[in-house]
This record gives sequence, structure tokens and C-alpha cells, in this order.
Amino acid sequence: MNTDPARQSNSKPREVAILGATGSIGRSTLDVLSRHRDAYVVHALTAHTSSEALIELCLRCQPRIAVLSGIEEDDSLRRRLRDARCRTELLFGQEALLRAVEGCDIAMAAIVGAAGLPPTLAAARAGKQVLLANKEALVMAGPLFMREARAAGAVLLPIDSEHNAVFQCLPTDAFGRAAMSEVRRIVLTASGGPFRTASPEKLRSVTPDEACAHPNWVMGRKISVDSATMMNKGLEVIEARWLFDVDPSRIEVVIHPQSVIHSMVEYVDGSTIAQLSNPDMRVPIAHALAYPARIDSGASPLNLAAIGRLDFESPDVQRFPCLALAYCALEAGGTAPAILNAANEVAVEAFLDGRLAFTGIAQVDQEVLGLVPSGEAASLEVVLEADRAARARARQCIQGRLERAA
Ligand code: NAD
Ligand code: MG
Repeated sequence: MNTDPARQSNSKPREVAILGATGSIGRSTLDVLSRHRDAYVVHALTAHTSSEALIELCLRCQPRIAVLSGIEEDDSLRRRLRDARCRTELLFGQEALLRAVEGCDIAMAAIVGAAGLPPTLAAARAGKQVLLANKEALVMAGPLFMREARAAGAVLLPIDSEHNAVFQCLPTDAFGRAAMSEVRRIVLTASGGPFRTASPEKLRSVTPDEACAHPNWVMGRKISVDSATMMNKGLEVIEARWLFDVDPSRIEVVIHPQSVIHSMVEYVDGSTIAQLSNPDMRVPIAHALAYPARIDSGASPLNLAAIGRLDFESPDVQRFPCLALAYCALEAGGTAPAILNAANEVAVEAFLDGRLAFTGIAQVDQEVLGLVPSGEAASLEVVLEADRAARARARQCIQGRLERAA
């Protein structure tokens, strides 16, 4: 008899595609799926260039399809799967990402960065249950994405722990529409990252490894750096604005170093509802996979007595200007958030490569946001063009700085 609540009675196991399967969210998703083998089938797994990691996942999980989006056709990789009696169909190139989502019921959008927008939008347009970890899709193209998802009847479930928490604190559907008139504020919590108490001098000399050593979460390097600059929280404010259709003036950020409360919703009667768990991404992943049922995620139970205290403070926008930049981009509207996001991706990459100081990230972001004209985000093509223009400008800014420093 099937007793797993993830498996709805008499229904077939649900087919799950994981975009970005070799990453931190991808692997956490596979961990949750492995606990509910009756309820889910791994339909497709994708990675960009990490072929060894993807092959290893294919042998272990036997997906129907696997995609290496950043690699040219390579028959030797196909042969390795065949020789190991793995029946996975291995595809190559960016376009194949669309194939990965075609036949699935649930698409986990866990590609990092702007590259995640086209396949995530394709999953939404196809009316899938979309588990949205790739916040960049909403940062870059929020109104367009939400419009198309709604028109196609997609079920959009947030994976970002803050948005998943807000969603759990709202009594209605993924778009939060019915309840928003009763909501006074959304309060996003932020850990403050590894440099919450660091002096401005220390911030200037931060190394990539220091920036990636997050006190509470283990994540990919890009989002770890964003957490350290607090741009991650800025991107999350933009994400919340579109996901819950709430004015930015009603989205607040509070620093909560323990990362136990993942966010809160304050209602007009003065009640505030919060969602709590240990900082483990398997919690929101399990929530969204089985929604509206609840399933075991593998996360350890919360022991509040052992945690002892929960602290809160206001963010310091002097030391962490990225948060304010995100509110500016939201106010400017149109393609401005896509421009900010693209500049930030280029700046973070330069920081990780040792070509830009940690404090230079916010400076490049601000410069590019001021320099690249924004316009109406009328279509995916317009958004992607703004992304390209901002990247080119950010590279020039970084190059200029390097030349001046030489
Ligand atoms: P990661 O760097 O660990 O993994 C990224 C995945 O995307 C890998 O599978 C990689 O192969 C693939 N990828 C990278 N570049 C690509 C490209 N150009 N085209 C196609 N695929 C590409 O990242 P992560 O930490 O798992 O984060 C994934 C997404 O989830 C990000 O948008 C991040 O903001 C969001 N998110 C992550 C966490 C977390 O705890 N890690 C929490 C909340 C939200
Ligand atoms: Mg988050």
C-alpha cells in the first residue's frame, strides 16, 4: 500500500526535471526525492559544463533525459552512459534545456543567474508546477514572468527560503492575491552574512573564500557572495515584489543572524505570522514538491531551547549599499532590475576571479545602473538585450578600474 503523503492516492509518480541538478539546490532536491521514490520519478537533470558530476548523477538516478547546456555534442560521454547500461538520453546545448522541461510535471528551476530565465519561463509557459529557486527570473522579468505563468495556469512555488516562508504564512495561492489586502507588511529576514559586524576597512580586503564562508547556509559561490554584500536580499526584495504583487514600500528587511525565522507576514490586525526551521533548503524544497501535502525533508527538527535566543537588528545600508540599490532599481522599474542583476553577476565573477575588490561590487553595480538607460520590459528579447548591454558596461567599468590601478 502506498503510505507516502507525497504520492497522491491512485496517481502516477510525478515526473521531476531539475534544471541545475549539479548545484547546491539541485543536490538538495535529489536528496529529498530519494526519500520518496514511490512518489517521484527523476525525469531530467541538467548541468552547464560539469560533465563528470552530471554523468555520476545519471548513473545514480537514471533520469530519462540529461542535458549539458554549455558543451558541444560529445559522443564519448554518451558511450560512457551506454557502457554502464544507463538508458538516459544525453543532450547538449542551450536549446536542450527546453527539452528537459517539456515532458515533466514539476520543474525545479535551480540554474544560477540570468541563464535560468529562458528555461524557467518556458516551464511557466508550458503550465508546469514550477519550483522557483532561480530568483533572477523574477528579478529580470517579474511582471512578464508572472503574467505568462498565470495565463498558462502554471503553479508557481517559491524555493527561496524567505519567499517560501512568506508563502507558508499566507492563507492563499502562490500568487497571494486573495490575502494581500489583509497584509500590512512582508518582513524578509537576512542573516547579515559573514561580514555583518565587519569594519569598512575589513570589507575592502575581503577574499573570495571569506565571502563564500556563510555562517548558516551552504550555497553556490555566486549566491554566497551576494549574501555577503547583501545584494541577495536586494534581489529577494524584487522577487517578493512580483511574486506576491506587493508594493516595495510594504517589504521590509530585518537582520536575524540565527536564520531560524525565514520571514514573516504582518496582518492589518497587528498579528505577525512567521515560519521557522533549521537553515536547511530541503525544508522549502519538500514543501514545494509535495504542496499542498507535507512530506519528510530529511531536515533535523528545530531545537529552540538549544538555540536559546533569536536576535534582530536593522540592516546597515551604509556598509551594505547593495540593498538600497535594489530598491532604487525597483523604483526605476522596467529593465532597471535586469540591468542591476547583470552588472552584479559580472562584478561578482570579477571578484571571485580576483579582479575586483569586494567593495568594488556595489560600486560597479551602482555605476552600471546609472549608466545604462532602462526602458519598458516589454518582452523577453528586450530584457535579454538590457542584460547584454549591462554586462558589456560592467566589463568596461571593471577594466577601467584595473587600468587605473596599474
Ligand atoms: P550552484 O552554483 O550551486 O549551481 C548552479 C547550477 O546551475 C549547476 O548545476 C550549474 O551546472 C548550472 N549552471 C550554471 N551556469 C549555467 C548556465 N549558464 N546555463 C545553464 N546552467 C548553468 O547554485 P545554487 O546555490 O544551487 O543556486 C541556484 C539558484 O538557486 C540561484 O538562482 C540561487 O540564487 C537560488 N537559491 C539558492 C539557494 C541555496 O541555498 N543554494 C537558496 C535560495 C535560492
Ligand atoms: Mg533566500
